[in-house]
Amino acid sequence: MQKKTIKDMDIKGMRVLVRVDFNVPIENGVIEDDRKMKETIPTIKYLADNNAKVILVSHLGRPKGFDESLRMNPIAKRLEELMKKEGYKNKVMKTNHCINSEVKSNVAKMNFGDILMLENVRFYPEEEKNDVGFAKKLSENADIYVNDAFGTSHRAHASTEGVAKFLPAVAGFLIEKELNYLGKALANPEKPLIAIVGGAKVSTKIGIIENLLNKVDKMLIGGGMTFTFLKAKGMEVGKSMVEEDKLELAKKIMEKANNKIVLPDDIVVADKVEETNNYKTVSINAIPKEMYGVDIGEKTVEKFAKIIKNAKTVVWNGPMGVFEVKNFDKGTIEIAKALTECKGTTIVGGGDSASAIEKLGFANKVSHVSTGGGASLEFLEGKELPGIKVLMDK
Ligand code: ADP
Ligand code: MG
Repeated sequence: MQKKTIKDMDIKGMRVLVRVDFNVPIENGVIEDDRKMKETIPTIKYLADNNAKVILVSHLGRPKGFDESLRMNPIAKRLEELMKKEGYKNKVMKTNHCINSEVKSNVAKMNFGDILMLENVRFYPEEEKNDVGFAKKLSENADIYVNDAFGTSHRAHASTEGVAKFLPAVAGFLIEKELNYLGKALANPEKPLIAIVGGAKVSTKIGIIENLLNKVDKMLIGGGMTFTFLKAKGMEVGKSMVEEDKLELAKKIMEKANNKIVLPDDIVVADKVEETNNYKTVSINAIPKEMYGVDIGEKTVEKFAKIIKNAKTVVWNGPMGVFEVKNFDKGTIEIAKALTECKGTTIVGGGDSASAIEKLGFANKVSHVSTGGGASLEFLEGKELPGIKVLMDK
């Protein structure tokens, strides 16, 4: 279902409450990665340029009540710098609350086109409880609600879901973009559609595997979950990560998959899952008993890359190996490269795979890197996200 966006609303002269995901990594007040903020700039700029009062609300970290170190002040400052680059001349204002009379008077004082950052919404325990009274109070300083926090839209919290029941609620441009890429890949993809699924555990990816298997032409499996599939086929996996209680399920998935599942042909094995000189590549049926599978091998990379390059749509979730460790990152790097060489639509679905592609500097060479870890996972599982469900349909 298509959702209404800010373009569908007359926002001039309106007070617009925007839920953003400014939950960025921050160390001693220094923001380490502001990608999520940058992704929201088009929405904020559009609202400011069109003479709305822009009231931003986000969470930051996991505070238990008020926490001085998790105030939104450095975020408001960074936003001001980012908006300056867009030609925005005013200060980004900041209040220490989300709901009281101070907020009310701040909003009243704003000029149209001004931006106000509210305090960390998770300082209020009512936020995560999706407390109706709190949601209502949040709504009282605004005329329109905009959700642009894709990364939190799988949570039914007061600022992502509850508040939308009290105001006309629409999507911002980031949510629109996420829905366009992820939604189209699932509902109406150009074929062949290829999924690459990796990461640590089958258990966390079952939903994705089952939902995508119905839609894809091929599913390439890498990462730690490989070994649960291999063991389910009766193969030796050495000391590799295996989820014993998922062996039956892996077997069933493979039976249902109609040869759509493509497993590795070779594996990098090591004496430990950390930096070591004792590692080598072996064929998939020659994994030594005393070693750990830590990455996909070169032949597998070649096989996977060929399939990826010929695809029209690629969805990638989960690294191919223990990419945090030197020498075990090649599979992930090479698959990322293959994605950049594919001429079709290439989508990286959040979490560790997204940070891997960022670190490699490839983020701009794929069609879309999702800003949602858990949210993109749930979306790809076919679940309806509460913060999106609650927005008005077109
Ligand atoms: P994502 O966040 O992209 O969904 P996951 O969180 O499922 O991915 O998995 C990422 C983790 O999987 C990484 O920390 C990586 O080290 C681990 N991993 C990948 N391959 C293996 C392997 N062969 N053995 C153990 N862990 C692995
Ligand atoms: Mg992860």
